[in-house]
Amino acid sequence: MHCPVCSSINTGKVGNDTYYCSNCLLEFDFLGGQYQIYYIDDEGVSFVLKDKGEAKMLSESFHEGNELLFRERLEELISKS
Ligand SMILES: [Zn+2]
Repeated sequence: MHCPVCSSINTGKVGNDTYYCSNCLLEFDFLGGQYQIYYIDDEGVSFVLKDKGEAKMLSESFHEGNELLFRERLEELISKS
């Protein structure tokens, strides 16, 4: 299974139709040809990301090690949804 966000194959199955990308640190599921991307926070709360662009933005700020930016982006995404 390729990650829909980064196309990496560093993904693992974590449940029924649910996968985890160890590159993006995001989860996604694949139902009926449609995928949905989630971010799971430290407390196990999952946030649905609307599209690939948002997921990529979030993943990038995480990889930059900029936790403040990451939190800001996450909060922005949550408030929009
Ligand atoms: Zn990925």
